Order: sequence, then structure tokens, then C-alpha cells
Amino acid sequence: MDQQDIEKFAEETAHPLMVLLIDDQEIIATSVRHQLASEKDINFHYCQDPTEAITAAEKIGPTVILLDLIMPKIDGLTLCRFFRTHPSTRDIPIVMLSSEEEPVTKAQAFECGANDYLVKLPDKIELIARLRYHSKAYISGLQRDDAYRALRASQMRLEELNIELLKLANLDGLTGLINRRFFEKRYAEEWLRAARKKYALSVIMFDIDWFKRLNDQFGHLEGDECLKRIASAVREIPTRPADVIARYGGEEFVVLLPETDVHGARLIAERIRTEVEDLHIPNPGSTVRPFVTISAGVATAVPDSESPSTSLIRFADEALYRAKEGGRNCVCAATVPAA
Ligand code: GH3
Ligand code: MG
Ligand code: MG
Repeated sequence: MDQQDIEKFAEETAHPLMVLLIDDQEIIATSVRHQLASEKDINFHYCQDPTEAITAAEKIGPTVILLDLIMPKIDGLTLCRFFRTHPSTRDIPIVMLSSEEEPVTKAQAFECGANDYLVKLPDKIELIARLRYHSKAYISGLQRDDAYRALRASQMRLEELNIELLKLANLDGLTGLINRRFFEKRYAEEWLRAARKKYALSVIMFDIDWFKRLNDQFGHLEGDECLKRIASAVREIPTRPADVIARYGGEEFVVLLPETDVHGARLIAERIRTEVEDLHIPNPGSTVRPFVTISAGVATAVPDSESPSTSLIRFADEALYRAKEGGRNCVCAATVPAA
């Protein structure tokens, strides 16, 4: 929202001028009301009892207050100070109205928080000009606050949408798992962290067995459904906050396990394998079981930052190939040469 938008917003939320006179003498009210009668856009309200002034101001919402200086019960200066401390009247312009011309009294009024000072009874033109001037300043302050509030709200909404968008950009549309692009970013980060801290990093690659046959037999939509069911069944298996499970592509998934040795990684891979097997998703074309199974390859290393960070994925892929060769529905671990 730029300056032009703020001005446009201000025009759209046009505010009427509201004058509240607080004065114990009704004759002053009659006179001011008469003076303002010709001004169709100025609403006039009168409060005779200063003890009710705050309540009246809260009810009316004045854009300017005309405040008598000398009143019984509460004097105008005390009331002016009180208006300045009260949250609902703190910013409303106050024009003191007095029969006194003393400069010291005027100075006191300003000290107590008054914005202006008029000697009773003011000239009509001057009164109207001052009431308009103070009201406009007050209204534009309100509009500016409204505009900034609206701006803050839209900025916050935009931030939320950006976060949402960022999340979506990192997720796979079909399964809701992290996608390959984001996995690779996380993998590179974890590789460096593991190299720095000298701990083991493990990767599991797993792939659905005879998935082509399931697609051929039941159609692609059933195939998609199978991918979704597998994703939701296994997504909670790696439980540590730094663990990542992603759809690597097609019917291939990958798991990243920081601070996990080969035994830990094998355990997770085995859990994924049995979880998928227990789903009993029919796949009559499979040579392993009459339902869907997976094969997994595990690779573990304590990375050296100088070795290429893709090597673990390559080793896990090779181990996966051996699992396929070895009969499928099983887990194979790669022997990774010391980095
Ligand atoms: P293997 O046990 O050796 O892994 O055999 P396979 O049939 O699973 O492997 P292959 O690579 O021959 O076929 C993979 C199939 O996965 C082929 C492709 O149509 C299917 N596929 C890949 N991505 C998707 C997808 O997003 N949705 C569906 N429905 N099928 C997919
Ligand atoms: Mg008086
Ligand atoms: Mg497959």
C-alpha cells in the first residue's frame, strides 16, 4: 500500500465531523448550536454535566471537543488532563473555551493538553474554521491508523500465504511427502553437518516391487492410490525431527537419517518393509506375494566434506538393485568405502 492507496482508503472511509461542547451554561450551547446550524456536515452535541463528559464522548465519538474552562464540580483544566489520560479520548483535539483572555491561563490550558484556545463567544467564521481544522487533523490521523492496520493485516496474510506456498513448493502433490528437490537440499545440509560433527548419516532407498504389473492390471488411478496409501503408512516411521522421508520419483522413495548407523537404518528399512507388506494391497502379478511389497537399499557413512555428497544416494541405489536381484521384499545394505 503506497501513499496513493492510503489517500484513496482515507476518501473511502470519509468520517463526519462531530463537535462535543462541554459547558455548564446552556446559553453557550444555544449560541454554538446556532453558529453551526448552517454547516450541514458538522454534527453538534452538547453535554452540560462535566462528570458525564467521558461517557458522552465515548457515546458520541467527537472529532473535536469544545471544553469550558470554568465549571462547577470539575474545572475545565482538570477535565482536559483527564481526557488526555483516558484511552478513548486521549487523541481527540480539545479547544478550550473561556471568557478569560489571560496569557497565563491560556498557557496552562496548553500545558494540560489542550490543542487550542478560544475566547467566548468566538466569531462564527473563526469557530467553524478552527473546528474544521482540528477535526480534519484528527480524522486523518484515524484514517492513517486504519490504513496501517489494514496494511499490517494484509502483510500478515501475505506472509502466511508465502509460508504456505513455500511448503507446497517443497511437497509432492500426490503423496504429500517432501519432494525430491527439497530432499536434495536437506541431504546436502545434513551431509555437511554430519561431516562437521563426525557422525554417521544413513540413506534408505525403497521401491515398490512389480509396480508396473499393478498399474497394468488395475490402471494408473489404482496405482496412484497405492502410492498414497504407502506414503501415509510409512511417513511416521522415521520419528526424529531431523529425519526426512521423501518421494524421490515415480514409485521410489528415500529416507534420510542423520546420526544413524547402519544397524539403525536397517531397522527403519525393515519396519517400512513390514508396514507395506501388512497393508495387503493386492498385486496378483507380483512374483513375491499376491500383494504389494517393497525392496530397500541402505547406505551409511561418516561423511567427509570433501567426498561428493551424492555418493550415499548412489550406494543406497546400488543396494536397492541388489535387493531386487536377491528376490525383492527385502533390505540390503551397501558397503560404503571409508570416506
Ligand atoms: P521392480 O520390482 O523391478 O521395481 O518392478 P516395477 O514394475 O515396480 O518397476 P518398473 O521400473 O518396471 O516400473 C515402475 C512403474 O511405476 C512404471 C510406471 O508406470 C509406474 N509409475 C511411476 N510413477 C507413477 C505414478 O506416479 N503413478 C502411477 N500410478 N504409476 C507410476
Ligand atoms: Mg462555566
Ligand atoms: Mg518398482
